Amino acid sequence: MNQCNLCQKKIYPQFLLGDLLSWKPLFDLTICHKCLANFEQINARKACAQCGRSQTNNRFCLDCRRWRIKYHEDVIINHSLFVYNQAMHDYFHNFKMIGDYRLRLVFKQMIGDFLRSKHYDSYIFIPTSLDHLKARRFDPVVALYGDLIKPTVKVQYIGDSIEQSQKNRWERLKRSQNFSLSFSAIKKLRKVKRILLLDDIYTTGATLYSLRETLRNLNITANLFSFTLAR
Ligand SMILES: [Zn+2]
Ligand SMILES: [Zn+2]
Repeated sequence: MNQCNLCQKKIYPQFLLGDLLSWKPLFDLTICHKCLANFEQINARKACAQCGRSQTNNRFCLDCRRWRIKYHEDVIINHSLFVYNQAMHDYFHNFKMIGDYRLRLVFKQMIGDFLRSKHYDSYIFIPTSLDHLKARRFDPVVALYGDLIKPTVKVQYIGDSIEQSQKNRWERLKRSQNFSLSFSAIKKLRKVKRILLLDDIYTTGATLYSLRETLRNLNITANLFSFTLAR
């Protein structure tokens, strides 16, 4: 019998006929039904078809229409599991700010279900800035997804290493991007068709689109998708 990773109570699986017929592993539940009820799952039919924002239909939201114009429809298709509601806000506060590392396991089963249901050629974890890493002692993205999937290449965050005003012209040019990739990573990604970017929360999409810019500047033309726990 598993324990709920949020309330620590024993989980009694509620068997649904569909679960039994789908041969889904029933004993890797990581959150109990009572705790899960505090989170709002996103229904894809009632979410923006581009960023996965929960709404009343699946038309592109206003933000996404702007991204579509800016990037001539070469956009990122995002999938998120949950709405960033109060319960999710509290979850991330305890996980990232208080630094309760065990909380990485709460949604492991549901994240795993999604990752197993789709195929991508390459996986990239959105890197945490060094300042955040020092403050938290662990990378929340690696903590959430690292047990389930191995990133194909490593991307480094270089955005906050030097203040803009302190940079000379060469520094500014070199660091006009927030991310850097090794030569072998670039070579690898140029050959693939579908890349999944993994982050913890999709807020404005700015971080993902910033990485998109880096990839496109490096002539990496693969279709870009993203996955985040919350939107
Ligand atoms: Zn619980
Ligand atoms: Zn949208």
